[in-house]
Amino acid sequence: MAKVVVIESRCKSCEICVSVCARSCLRISEKHNQAGYFVVEFLGDDKCTGCALCGEMCPDLALQIYK
Ligand code: SF4
Ligand code: SF4
Repeated sequence: MAKVVVIESRCKSCEICVSVCARSCLRISEKHNQAGYFVVEFLGDDKCTGCALCGEMCPDLALQIYK
């Protein structure tokens, strides 16, 4: 079981992580950070494999993966 923690203050809502996750574990939420960007949310740990691709692709280092 793996888990992704979003550092919301760093997220710029670019959706790169959403597009690269083959397991559809991430989505843009309706919550925005102080900069006004809607932040990504992790949908749960059942499907996540901990592959870390989302974290590697995030240009703002906003995702931490725990496996
Ligand atoms: S790739 Fe990073 S900055 Fe872009 S939406 Fe995902 S967490 Fe936010
Ligand atoms: S670690 Fe892999 S499976 Fe989990 S959310 Fe990121 S890209 Fe998707």
